[in-house]
Amino acid sequence: MSQGLVTASYIVAAVLFIMSLAGLSKQESAKAGNWYGVAGMAIALLATIFNPEVTGLGWIIVAMAIGGAIGVRFALKVEMTEMPELIAILHSFVGLAAVFVGYNTYIDHGDLAGAMLNIHNTEIFLGVFIGAVTFTGSIVAFGKLRGLVSSKPLTLPHRHKLNLLAVVVSAILLIWFVQVEGSTFALLVMTLIALAFGWHLVASIGGADMPVVISMLNSYSGWAAAAAGFMLSNDLLIVTGALVGSSGAILSYIMCRAMNRSFISVIAGGFGSDGTVSSGEEEDGEYTEVNAEDVAEMLKNSSSVIITPGYGMAVAQAQYPVAELVSRLRAAGVKVRFGIHPVAGRLPGHMNVLLAEAKVPYDVVLEMDEINDDFDDTDTVLVIGANDTVNPAASEDPASPIAGMPVLEVWKAQQVVVFKRSMNTGYAGVQNPLFFRENSVMLFGDAKDSVDNILRAL
Ligand code: NDP
Repeated sequence: MSQGLVTASYIVAAVLFIMSLAGLSKQESAKAGNWYGVAGMAIALLATIFNPEVTGLGWIIVAMAIGGAIGVRFALKVEMTEMPELIAILHSFVGLAAVFVGYNTYIDHGDLAGAMLNIHNTEIFLGVFIGAVTFTGSIVAFGKLRGLVSSKPLTLPHRHKLNLLAVVVSAILLIWFVQVEGSTFALLVMTLIALAFGWHLVASIGGADMPVVISMLNSYSGWAAAAAGFMLSNDLLIVTGALVGSSGAILSYIMCRAMNRSFISVIAGGFGSDGTVSSGEEEDGEYTEVNAEDVAEMLKNSSSVIITPGYGMAVAQAQYPVAELVSRLRAAGVKVRFGIHPVAGRLPGHMNVLLAEAKVPYDVVLEMDEINDDFDDTDTVLVIGANDTVNPAASEDPASPIAGMPVLEVWKAQQVVVFKRSMNTGYAGVQNPLFFRENSVMLFGDAKDSVDNILRAL
């Protein structure tokens, strides 16, 4: 393949990546967006491995076959609810790759000198720094999502000063690294600091802020890839990395706004919270339990129903009977709509994907802001496997770890039915006073079984 053809392929791939991002921004075009991404990546891979400068093609193909086989196996095995964990671990690979590329480029920097060598060393230093932060940060995020690490924020004494110190010392090491034209000691010490810094940044963020952390690490991994692109002088990697980095940053900003969090606070590792939060684990009084027949009766007497799904609907895979329930109620003349919280489930758009899978019509699926004023006029709300996203403590208890986060105000409806298996807390580990309200009732059991039982009773 000639160099000209490689460059042309890179341009086509970059355009396909941009079209992919545009497609993924709407449900209707998301499938096409995915295919653009796949096509762009296939072109990029082919153009890279058949680049005339590439040697050792045999090794590359063996590595791709092994990596591809592992990737396919995991993609087939992974549950939808485990996607964020997979994304987090993939981000850690991007970070680690940037660190390796950095060290490789450091060892083999060719015959650069003067200003070019300084620029090159700065690229290496920053690439390794961003890569190392992304690597350990993503591993901690993986641990938190998997339940291997506590989802509670780690609040070390003087943690903000520690973060600041890590940044300042790394900046001094950068100057040293550039001035002595590549001090191995400075690079190694900075790598250790960056690894600890990444770990601490994510460990000090609480469970409820994890959605922002994931999109933020997405952004970091993009910048790490862009840094690797600079080191390898690969234009496509720079463009792709910048696309991922900036789209991740925009998503983090949108998530912060949706959760009423300060962007700077979250990226600075929980900066702004003093770490004194109410445990919220104690129960708040009596609750009322009902069975599926009672709920069927309530639904028969309702003229408007809102369903607020959450992570539990995904675990139970209850979207199919829920879609069936919706069409039965609509056929009986009941006004049924969905209220979707921006961070419901475990990944952005999780609930929308599940409902689309079950062929729920898009026009009855509304965002939180579109439906929050309608709960007052609603007869029955079905909270199916949601917890943190419908917790009134967010607006009523300033000491709550989720204080300030906008939630679906389900308690304003005439009656609320909560579908869950126990009185356990949600992801943020905060007890939910909704369960003890006079107009709330609990329907215990797996959400799919509960909805199936209601369908039978209707
Ligand atoms: P939560 O995680 O707060 O609560 C889910 C509830 O579902 C639990 O209380 C659980 O109770 C119940 N549940 C679990 N399995 C089942 C089942 N099989 N049948 C019935 N109920 C079940 O969910 P939300 O969606 O309300 O909130 C999402 C949380 O996840 C937020 O805190 C958010 O910040 C966080 N998060 C979101 C991400 C995103 O991008 N969307 C990413 C990372 C974290 P029980 O065990 O008693 O059944």
